[in-house]
Amino acid sequence: MIKAEKIYKSFGPLQVLKGIDLEVRKGEIVSIVGPSGAGKTTLLMIMGTLEKADSGRIYIDNHELSSLSEKKLSDFRNRNIGFVFQFHQLLPEFTALENVMIPALIGHAKHVEAEARAKDLLCMMGLSERITHKPAELSGGEKQRVAVARALINDPLVVFADEPSGSLDSDNKEELHKLFFELRDKLNQTFIIVTHDEQLASITDRTIHMIDGQIVDQ
Ligand code: ADP
Repeated sequence: MIKAEKIYKSFGPLQVLKGIDLEVRKGEIVSIVGPSGAGKTTLLMIMGTLEKADSGRIYIDNHELSSLSEKKLSDFRNRNIGFVFQFHQLLPEFTALENVMIPALIGHAKHVEAEARAKDLLCMMGLSERITHKPAELSGGEKQRVAVARALINDPLVVFADEPSGSLDSDNKEELHKLFFELRDKLNQTFIIVTHDEQLASITDRTIHMIDGQIVDQ
């Protein structure tokens, strides 16, 4: 599903990624762990096409992404890649339902179809009673589940999550982690998750350990 080949990345004089090779299969839930500054988020952003590598190649579902124009890359990203960040980044003026629909509408889905799928996803997240609530009216755990529904609206090939449970208390953390596995079981969804959470890392299919820009163990 995803293949990173010899990824190098520097910010000025700082070499952050030093030749990363990584493959992830469809339906796999992979965690990336390591000390702060190891390059985990940078690798996630590069695999998610939000950041460019200095050299190396990323393949997602056999598409080699560096060969795509900016426009094609942006369409590819919206259509095929979901993101969940530590802070939900929902738009405050829109309801949960509208927030989830936005990526579908950007992708020119029909309004009724986008709405039906967004409702299905929100129900799957246990949020059927919350669809007309705005983010300020939702708890931290609910907002993060809306963010997961938004990441899934276009039926992405892969979801990249950066510390998705980093701002949640332990009950909500556990619930969110359970949700990832339920989504894998129901939708065969692939997840790549940067996390400091040892409990989450211990239950993922594979844990990639990064230190100083390199994978030291997986
Ligand atoms: P991690 O996620 O493992 O904590 P990051 O990938 O966020 O590591 O960062 C790796 C290193 O790259 C850090 O030293 C960080 O300060 C630096 N870095 C990350 N993004 C940028 C950027 N846009 N500009 C300059 N330095 C950056």
